Amino acid sequence: MTDTAHRSTGTEGVAGGVGLTALLVAAARAIETHRHDSLAQDVYAEHFVRAAPASAGWPVHLDQAADGDANPLWGRFARYFGLRTRVLDDFLLQSVHTGGARQVVLLGAGLDARAFRLDWPPGCVIFEIDQESVLAFKHEVLGGLSAVPKATRVPIPIDLRADWVGALANAGFDAAAPTAWLAEGLLFYLPITAETYLIDTVDRLSAGGSALAFEVKLEKDLLDYRDSPLYVSTNDQIGIDLLSLFDGEPRPDSAGDLRGKGWSTSVHTPFDFTRHHGRGPLPERNDALEGNRWVFANKPRP
Ligand code: SAM
Repeated sequence: MTDTAHRSTGTEGVAGGVGLTALLVAAARAIETHRHDSLAQDVYAEHFVRAAPASAGWPVHLDQAADGDANPLWGRFARYFGLRTRVLDDFLLQSVHTGGARQVVLLGAGLDARAFRLDWPPGCVIFEIDQESVLAFKHEVLGGLSAVPKATRVPIPIDLRADWVGALANAGFDAAAPTAWLAEGLLFYLPITAETYLIDTVDRLSAGGSALAFEVKLEKDLLDYRDSPLYVSTNDQIGIDLLSLFDGEPRPDSAGDLRGKGWSTSVHTPFDFTRHHGRGPLPERNDALEGNRWVFANKPRP
């Protein structure tokens, strides 16, 4: 993250800086929800988009977007987020229903409404970590809808560059129980030190049987794709310059670090899941998604 973007995250919350990206993903999920061949349903997503002045005029249905599916932002990029939502829904549900985890930690939860929309087993606890202003906005919108979570939900307003471990422990997290961790659309916004700390901490707090899914970008130089339709249209249509929000430093090899700590990992392109589901983005030229990888990691039981 550049110094400018880094400073902006704490104060502008959901209305600016990296907080605005949570609204972008919410708009994409709203559009996905209304598709006839939807991969994921999130009835809360459009309420977040409409409630924030910064996004109130954005599309929540593909019909409202100029050029529909041919719109690089609201067509292909939104479908990417829809696919990601579905794949990570499946990861979490598998972790709790088959893997035996009873606590879930959403790192950089943003406007993720999984606590409200997925079917969790009895006794499941969902911790949501994000900036205070993002979680305050989420609380206000969900409160207005009288939304009821389907598991115990514990929001933890804290910056992931600060000591979030103490906050998680104080919120009732149990390091002796298997956990399903998720860092969806998060790590490339964090400074390297914060990503390394996050991976080390997840390992340290994970009992055997825990699982982690996260998203990384492998590009050596993110600016190689500055003219890509995704980055250009996101900036032109809604004023989010993703490249200025991403941390510009070379990324650590977090999947490799986890393997070194004894975790098993599998690394996928999003396109693998497009082919599996028969819907979603496929590779194209000058593609800002080319370096995106979805990593699934499991800590063996002793
Ligand atoms: N995971 C959510 C999803 O996929 O819908 C949100 C993704 S959004 C692109 C990125 C989220 O990471 C935002 O909600 C932002 O506030 C959060 N985030 C970024 N940097 C953060 C930090 N240093 N501390 C806490 N949250 C952070």
